Amino acid sequence: MYDKNVKGKFYDIQGFSVHDGPGIRTTCFLKGCPLRCLWCHSPESQEFGPELNWMEIKCSGIEECGKCLNVCPHGAITPGGTKKSPTGDKDLTLVKVDRSKCDNCGKCAEACPAQALYICGKDYTVEELMERIRREKPFYDTSGGGVTISGGECLNQPEFLLNFLKACKDEDIHTAVDTTGFAQWELIESILPYTDIFLYDLKHMDSEMHKRGTGVPNELILENARKIAKAGGKFQIRVPVMPLYNESEENFDKLGKFVLELGDAVEVVQLLPYHNLGVVKWERLGRDHPVLEATAPSNEFMEMRKKQLEDMGLTNVIIH
Ligand code: SF4
Ligand code: SF4
Repeated sequence: MYDKNVKGKFYDIQGFSVHDGPGIRTTCFLKGCPLRCLWCHSPESQEFGPELNWMEIKCSGIEECGKCLNVCPHGAITPGGTKKSPTGDKDLTLVKVDRSKCDNCGKCAEACPAQALYICGKDYTVEELMERIRREKPFYDTSGGGVTISGGECLNQPEFLLNFLKACKDEDIHTAVDTTGFAQWELIESILPYTDIFLYDLKHMDSEMHKRGTGVPNELILENARKIAKAGGKFQIRVPVMPLYNESEENFDKLGKFVLELGDAVEVVQLLPYHNLGVVKWERLGRDHPVLEATAPSNEFMEMRKKQLEDMGLTNVIIH
């Protein structure tokens, strides 16, 4: 039994995902996260509430449009910088959003014909989401895929998560829960019977360094991983690899030992090379991107760390 009317707040839903668990999947991204990772590629996931985004590239400019200028009840939108018109023969005046005045009401987004302004954060009930999931089920069935529920931190919306996972299992759909592991054990325990695999991040094995990179220590995360393994849960361990943060041989040695401790619970270890493609998302939200010195690790470096883990006895280590 589950409640099909419970609502969750999402920032995105992606079909045909092939990197968030086995097979072809639909990945559902819930809003809200207790971590603040310096390398976060999805800053729109961090806050629980809806947030206004503005994409300069889509804005037609005040001379051509300007429809957003007079709709804001708080006067948060005014003329801003300029950009060249698509033909390059004139300057277009852009808009700017004063975030200190904006309460994310969404009126300007409704008025924007180009969808340069848009609100990120939409509610779906369990049943509304299941209607979409059912349409994509044939692809899961032929590929060994299913549904991945991600975030943000999906355990931040525990009532929705539990009911949605129950709905999926009622219809024989494979479920993956992508989590930071930074949550009360009781919440994790409640979803265990309905979760086929946890996509579980191990960002740094040293707690102080973990806190520097994410804002929280790692003890709870490691302890929850041990408890999940003991309770019979399965893992795809995910490791974002960031030069100048967690890439050292010593950290990977500790990581390998910890993963071995989890034993047969670990089905896959996925090494994710750092990239900075998410920077533009911070700009859309009008936020400064955290300063991070890291550059993308080379293929050779990723292969070296993969081999280090394999030499320790880990199997099924993949790079993506
Ligand atoms: S979301 Fe609402 S408050 Fe914010 S800029 Fe747009 S109209 Fe103004
Ligand atoms: S309504 Fe949209 S496209 Fe038009 S000026 Fe405002 S942000 Fe730009």
